[in-house]
Amino acid sequence: GVAFHTDAVQAFGHEPIDVKEMGIDMLSASSHKIYGPKGAGLLYIRKGVNVENFIDGGQQERGRRGSTENVPGIVGFARAAELAAADMAGEHDRQLALRDHAIRRILDEIPSAKLNGSWESRLANNVNFSFEFIEGEGMLLQLAARGICVSSGSACTSGSLDPSHVLLAIGLPHEIAHGSLRMTIGRDTTLEDVDFAVDSLKTTLANLRMMSPLYEDFQQGKVESVIERFKADGFPYAN
Ligand SMILES: *Cc1c(COP(=O)(O)O)cnc(C)c1O
Repeated sequence: GVAFHTDAVQAFGHEPIDVKEMGIDMLSASSHKIYGPKGAGLLYIRKGVNVENFIDGGQQERGRRGSTENVPGIVGFARAAELAAADMAGEHDRQLALRDHAIRRILDEIPSAKLNGSWESRLANNVNFSFEFIEGEGMLLQLAARGICVSSGSACTSGSLDPSHVLLAIGLPHEIAHGSLRMTIGRDTTLEDVDFAVDSLKTTLANLRMMSPLYEDFQQGKVESVIERFKADGFPYAN
């Protein structure tokens, strides 16, 4: 009997969603995450679900959210949704192949790297890794200098220095959550882009680790790798 709301911002336009089949009472999505204009979003509310009004006053949006609607934003969002839906399956599979290529290369070529979350049950455009003996921010800056835009925080708090609360919640210790990196594949991303990003990541990590006193201790056998220990212990999210 509990109302179920899903933050579907990352899934909308990428994965098929059937609100009936999935038992969804409320769903939010955002325009600019699917190449629509900024400043528009949507909240689906199943018939019969009662929510308090968000902004009282005007009668716009059936009284739930008073104030003049952002018509260009809404029209642009609808057009972006049409375009996303038109080739959703094809684009999904194309991005999934690029994602798996990136994950495989990183696991094969970068030591002390851990894929966060399940490999199978993850968004087709999402690559999220933790790397030991470095800080996420250092990686971010060096990759940005090469024109690669990635995030070290969670989806909604990028820009903050705190480790992702999601990674902490799935059981990552602080020091590993700190060295985490999220890369997302978009409509314009090519195989060459992915290879360039992974090559840059390898160089960047090698440089940063060379400067890291912790990595030196690790190489001299003074500290152990938490990620390697996880793998040996069969940690549920070890890959
Ligand atoms: C971007 C994002 C949000 C925030 O949506 P905005 O429209 O950018 O405020 C919320 N949840 C997830 C999962 C997101 O990716």
